[in-house]
Amino acid sequence: GSLKVKNALDEELKNKGLQNEINVVLTGCNGFCAQGPVMTVYPEDIFYEKVTVKDIPIIVEEHFIKGRPVERLMYKEPVKKQTIPLMRDIPFFSLQVLRALRNKGLIDPEKIEEYIARDGYQAAAKALTEMTPEQIIDEVKKSGLRGRGGAGFPTGLKWEFCSKVKGDQKYILCNGDEGDPGAFMDRSIMEADPHVVLEGMIIGAKAIGANKGYIYVRAEYPLAVHRLQLAIKQAKEYGLLGNDILGTGFNLDIEIYQGAGAFVCGEETALMRSIEGKRGMPIPRPPFPAQKGLWAKPTVLNNVETYANIPQIILNGGEWYRSLGTEKSTGTKVFALSGAINNIGLIEVPMGIPLRKIIYDIGGGIPKGRKFKAVQLGGPSGGCIPEHLLDTPVTYEDIVKTGAIVGSGGMVVMNDLNCMVSVAKFFLEFTAEESCGKCPPCRIGTTVMLDMLTNITEGRGRDGDIELLEDMSRDIIATSLCGLGQTAPNPVLTTIKYFRDEYESHIQEKW
Ligand code: SF4
Repeated sequence: GSLKVKNALDEELKNKGLQNEINVVLTGCNGFCAQGPVMTVYPEDIFYEKVTVKDIPIIVEEHFIKGRPVERLMYKEPVKKQTIPLMRDIPFFSLQVLRALRNKGLIDPEKIEEYIARDGYQAAAKALTEMTPEQIIDEVKKSGLRGRGGAGFPTGLKWEFCSKVKGDQKYILCNGDEGDPGAFMDRSIMEADPHVVLEGMIIGAKAIGANKGYIYVRAEYPLAVHRLQLAIKQAKEYGLLGNDILGTGFNLDIEIYQGAGAFVCGEETALMRSIEGKRGMPIPRPPFPAQKGLWAKPTVLNNVETYANIPQIILNGGEWYRSLGTEKSTGTKVFALSGAINNIGLIEVPMGIPLRKIIYDIGGGIPKGRKFKAVQLGGPSGGCIPEHLLDTPVTYEDIVKTGAIVGSGGMVVMNDLNCMVSVAKFFLEFTAEESCGKCPPCRIGTTVMLDMLTNITEGRGRDGDIELLEDMSRDIIATSLCGLGQTAPNPVLTTIKYFRDEYESHIQEKW
């Protein structure tokens, strides 16, 4: 509904002769999805939620003409006893630290000038004119940045491997194929700040010596595709892409490749096969893409959020980046909060923050007074974390100890009404459906496990099923070719580990 509200605002400002005094900026996602459509008024920093077309004449008359903010449209929770809640005082916003999302809700993503006004392309200029590839890699290594797509591999190390491989043609790729249920981090970045993705890729291209790049975006994200295409066009007009960028002699061309919606195409080797026009199926590694990737040429693939961190690392230094987070999990991470939580939306927090703080302080707790039961982290590859582990710090090393993974950043919250066996079944349905079918443990194993979970939830469970599910999970993890199969049993294993009684009561209730 935001576009209708924006059009009504433009119209009303024109009617009142205020169109030259008040600048209306249509931005990407501001993060507080549950309260949309939202409007923020600057310089006061007043946040209006759930704005409708009918509210517009009132806001213009009361706030813009008479200087009296409209309280009934403001955020409802009391904020530090202030009469007028400012956006920066609302816990959902104030407890976040924005780095990858620093431009969200501030700039018009369709205007390169607004990105440039926020120091956009300064880092690319610095990297191209003042830094050697080794210096860029060194800075990224110093930052400790790990790939935000899920695997958490150190970005600087990946770039270093590829930079050392000799080759006349190298590729730099961006993974915007985000397909996990409950994940919308990359989509929001591509829609709200497309130039930051291009800038991160330009810097990465210089580091590894690539002159051709692709952004792989799922076709279900048409707005992201549109904004990236526009951003590429504008960057070319400004001499920031194409030949002889900024007169440095460095060339880079970037194209968008639209994926057809297969989850497995988020796996790096499958993604490359897909760009090559082949069926998107993983292949064994080694050789790794840094040596032989797209069209068998040295290739680096990072996800959207990883690239979105790069310009700030180059501008402020690796030490600055690692000043937040922990020794092994540095900086910040973007998460998408959804499910049984009040503040559904997009957040960015320092790594190391306890899960409890995310769920209750930023997320606003569980709606309708229900009890928290679990949070699913890492999508279908992740696991369910129960209440007694809510003080776990969100780091790669701590979350993995619970049986879940940080993953790309989807956080789906469950309340006491959710059946955890059904939750596991939901995720397994997804992975069984998305398995590419290349290797039997994943293709057949997930289907058999899904049949068993269906039987259990429909009262046909048998004694010994739980143990069999655990055995099969271990086998699938050990023998599958790619990450999809290797992680598919995680939701089953974690729900058995923490909610075994729910499996048992389903089985005992049979017939
Ligand atoms: Fe395909 Fe599954 Fe094997 Fe991966 S593990 S290659 S998705 S069958």
